Amino acid sequence: MQFEPVIGLEVHAQLKTATKIFCGCSTEFGAPPNSQTCPVCLGMPGVLPVLNKKVVEYTLRMALATNCTIPEQSRFARKNYFYPDLPKGYQISQYELPIAIDGHVDIDIDGATKRIGLTRIHMEEDAGKLVHDETRPVSLVDLNRTGTPLMEIVSEPDLRSAEEAGAYLRVLRTIIRWIGVGDGNMEEGSFRCDANVSIRPSGSDALGTRTEVKNVNSFRNVEKAIQYEIARQTDILLEGGEVVQETRLWDPVKNVTNSMRSKEEAHDYRYFPDPDLLPLVIDRDWVNAVRSSLPELPAERRARFVSDLELPGYDAGVLTASRGLADYFEACLEEINQPKQVSNWIMGQLLGLLNAQGKSINESPISAIDLAGLLKLIDDDVISGKIAKAVFEEMAETGKPAKQIVEEKGLAQVSDSSALEGEIDKVIAASPDEVARFKAGNPKLMGFFVGQVKKATQGKANPKLVNQILAKKLKA
Ligand SMILES: [Zn+2]
Repeated sequence: MQFEPVIGLEVHAQLKTATKIFCGCSTEFGAPPNSQTCPVCLGMPGVLPVLNKKVVEYTLRMALATNCTIPEQSRFARKNYFYPDLPKGYQISQYELPIAIDGHVDIDIDGATKRIGLTRIHMEEDAGKLVHDETRPVSLVDLNRTGTPLMEIVSEPDLRSAEEAGAYLRVLRTIIRWIGVGDGNMEEGSFRCDANVSIRPSGSDALGTRTEVKNVNSFRNVEKAIQYEIARQTDILLEGGEVVQETRLWDPVKNVTNSMRSKEEAHDYRYFPDPDLLPLVIDRDWVNAVRSSLPELPAERRARFVSDLELPGYDAGVLTASRGLADYFEACLEEINQPKQVSNWIMGQLLGLLNAQGKSINESPISAIDLAGLLKLIDDDVISGKIAKAVFEEMAETGKPAKQIVEEKGLAQVSDSSALEGEIDKVIAASPDEVARFKAGNPKLMGFFVGQVKKATQGKANPKLVNQILAKKLKA
């Protein structure tokens, strides 16, 4: 029997606001424990939350960038549960009336586009953090993170493989960074993912029993955890067993998921509208203003690179992996309008350099204008592509522009035909046998002559000119 996986993801993304969602405490990371707290985020009796408008604006940005509908009214709800990192005994979240519904994003799988639906996006506050002391039998609580704004992005169960789940997460993260609402850093916990995984007989429309996998802190681990869950559930069904609905934890050391607790149902949380917060009415003018403030989005820019600049889809995908990279590429094009050549150098030399140095495009040691300057020298036949690579290395080390390096080191090609003719005459005079064979009808020997001239000029001869002069002289 063949099984089909059905996967839906819940992503919690931290919003990059200066202050928390319901109080003025700082959200800055790395402060001493419990130094960024106040009566509101500590859940003291009698305090009242005040909604941070920036949180709503950032969530709207994400919602519009992912094609969601924004209902006129949304509402905050209390999600009640007890845990030592949650001083109020409830988390303020959204339940029946989230801020955004019915969105979608497109992912690319093996060159084909697949649309993944978004059920909803809602706002909520983060809980604190427990620190388990290894040396003493105690656990400590740090409430700095309590009240940090999160948006939860819930997908439809449209994903059918671990690979699709990975592609979807990458698309979401790119958008979050692109529109500047979060840093999308999975390892640091500002972008977290829970995966709902079930399997069903291929061709069936009914959904199987699902498990929720938590505690996954890298893209690779999300894919591995989903693959593990699919295999585990398949084994159970093939042996005639039943999958139990539960929450499982991913163990990145042993590469397995372990049962954590039976999955709670929504009614376990006793959701009810938060009486301290008014229903949130989103003005249509505000929605329109946020919509028009959005930059050209990654998918749009990628399509434009393919249609207007005639770049291959692969190149367009790499160049729009971040807004900084796409901007860098277009800044180069303003100097030298050769999209494919610029793309090749960025994808090859520049990204290779940045990867080796562990730097982002914004920290590139070579500016877009300087890279374009180097490519112009190739274009103008001042240097060959091969010498350009050496110049590029030198630019990265010294920060000097290409032109200066070429001048200082005397790397410019010999494009003076009378100087080249002298060298070529010498080569021809020194190789009578090869000349005879060439004239006897062996055109492959042209490569030999070009090579000899290159050697004599230390690679600086303009190859086009060398070929022209050689052809003329050898015919004579
Ligand atoms: Zn506070």
